[in-house]
Amino acid sequence: MTVARRLGWRGATIVNVQNSMLFTPMLPEVAGGVIEMRNVMTPLAMACPHAEIIPGRVTDLALEDRCAEVETDGGVRMHIEYEHVVVAVGAVPRTLPIAGLTDNAVGCSTVLDALYLRNQLLRMLAAAEMEPDLERRRRHLTFVFVGAGFAGVEALAELHNLAQDALRYHPTLRDVRQRWILVDAAPTILGQIPSRLGQYVHDRLVQRGVELRLGTRLVSVVDGRVALSDGTECDAGMLVWAAGIRANPIVARFGLPLDERGRVRVRSTLQVVGYEDVWALGDCAAVPNPATQGRIDPPTSQHALRQGQRLGKNLIAAQEGLGLDPYNFRSLGQVATLGRREGIADLRGLHLKGLSGWLAARAVHVMQVPRVSQRIGVLGNWIASLLFRGSLVTVAGLVDAPSLSTGSTSPVASPVRLPAPSSPVPKIEERAYRNE
Ligand SMILES: Cc1cc2nc3c(=O)[nH]c(=O)nc-3n(C[C@H](O)[C@H](O)[C@H](O)COP(=O)(O)OP(=O)(O)OC[C@H]3O[C@@H](n4cnc5c(N)ncnc54)[C@H](O)[C@@H]3O)c2cc1C
Repeated sequence: MTVARRLGWRGATIVNVQNSMLFTPMLPEVAGGVIEMRNVMTPLAMACPHAEIIPGRVTDLALEDRCAEVETDGGVRMHIEYEHVVVAVGAVPRTLPIAGLTDNAVGCSTVLDALYLRNQLLRMLAAAEMEPDLERRRRHLTFVFVGAGFAGVEALAELHNLAQDALRYHPTLRDVRQRWILVDAAPTILGQIPSRLGQYVHDRLVQRGVELRLGTRLVSVVDGRVALSDGTECDAGMLVWAAGIRANPIVARFGLPLDERGRVRVRSTLQVVGYEDVWALGDCAAVPNPATQGRIDPPTSQHALRQGQRLGKNLIAAQEGLGLDPYNFRSLGQVATLGRREGIADLRGLHLKGLSGWLAARAVHVMQVPRVSQRIGVLGNWIASLLFRGSLVTVAGLVDAPSLSTGSTSPVASPVRLPAPSSPVPKIEERAYRNE
């Protein structure tokens, strides 16, 4: 999208699975019911008015023939000939050969993931309130997150916030223990940020009652039973997998030169090594950055955006027969929101935490939202979330978890599919009596 915007009236053809660009930094707040999903999805046709938008999938690239094979969302197969091709197919969740993982876990990298996580959390709370069997109730109130990077920590913090909001409407659960478990193989959380800020987030999560299992791995998850390498076993109502990403494996099928991590190798001009008319950027590419002594850029939208701007300029220069300039960008820093009025920011050495960290994180994020209408939408959502509690609406039919990798869908545990209770269903008045 950034490249096509830079090309402007020169025009471009964008083939993308969705007809929109997802602004992922705010995805945790979509899961937490703070931000409405449409405010983080930028319609490509609006953002790139001169571009032709083809919702669909590129299934192959014939580099010699300068031709892309496309299957549209409507099932039409077509070949698109090009002068230049830009590969920006992003990353996919990195899954590991763990028993039951892809059938039981949910990612947190798509809008469907975010909607499902919110829905599942609220459904678990409602199911727990009605559940007479203590074991099942405990299971409904156990939430396990694997991966203590930004995606995992922010998703946990926002969903934990939503659960505390929802308790107001589940009085019988107020004194019932919820288990929030954050697992990571590394010895610390948020390893990418300065340790002082990481420790602050660690302490805040512990104060909120989150169990941190560091230096620990997920061993298996079968029928909702989670087993960790430290010997912990528990039945979980939700298992969230946020343990890293890998370059979209489709780039291997395109026959492009890849590095040891499966990323497309590019020069500092963002042309693919060995090609003049093939370009790549973003999470699927290994982009050397002179500003960091040639180190490969981390997979962030902050970097992808600047790569896109440089690539767009270089594409125009290439078309006009002018010289190309190297990409060069010094990171602005890193920010994270941790639920209501809580956040951290590391802005080129300025460390902020708590309310100031939260305000800084939100300011940085809203400034990057592509369209003014969306920024206003986000600001509106934020103001509403300061005045009112998070949205507690669930979507009854949204019971199957989006796939972590294969498209098969089987949520860990779902109230709709609750197994028969161990004892006969008590009558309503009996239940009310028991609650009291
Ligand atoms: C939960 C979460 C939070 C994040 N928070 C931040 C943050 O706060 N700050 C930050 O800087 N970064 C953040 N990131 C990282 C950021 O999202 C990525 O680095 C950025 O989106 C990479 O941009 P990209 O264009 O390479 O890939 P993407 O934005 O992922 O776009 C790739 C596009 O390619 C499409 N596609 C894939 N395969 C095909 C195909 N075969 N044919 C057609 N289309 C295809 C995909 O559908 C997708 O739309 C976060 C990521 C996640 C998941």
